[in-house]
Amino acid sequence: MVTYYVEAEQPCPDCQGTGVVQHPAWAAYWQEHPLGVYPTSREDEQWFREQGYDYPPDEEVPCSECGGTGIVRERVTLSAALAALGFQRGSA
Ligand SMILES: [Zn+2]
Repeated sequence: MVTYYVEAEQPCPDCQGTGVVQHPAWAAYWQEHPLGVYPTSREDEQWFREQGYDYPPDEEVPCSECGGTGIVRERVTLSAALAALGFQRGSA
């Protein structure tokens, strides 16, 4: 029996299709610094030094899940693709 495949493409679930994600150090930073509380850039730099960074990293970094493209592709069987589209075997 032959199995046919197609490629399924969808927005990346990790970055919601933007291609970038927040650097984990910045996520930790914002947990400790709620919105509305703005430390000085000097305090920011000190916080990141205490986390092991020589200077604050970029807040947004390329998404590793999609390689920064915002799109993920996967090979699925044709029958799975048709089922996902609402076609059922034997119908038509
Ligand atoms: Zn992504």
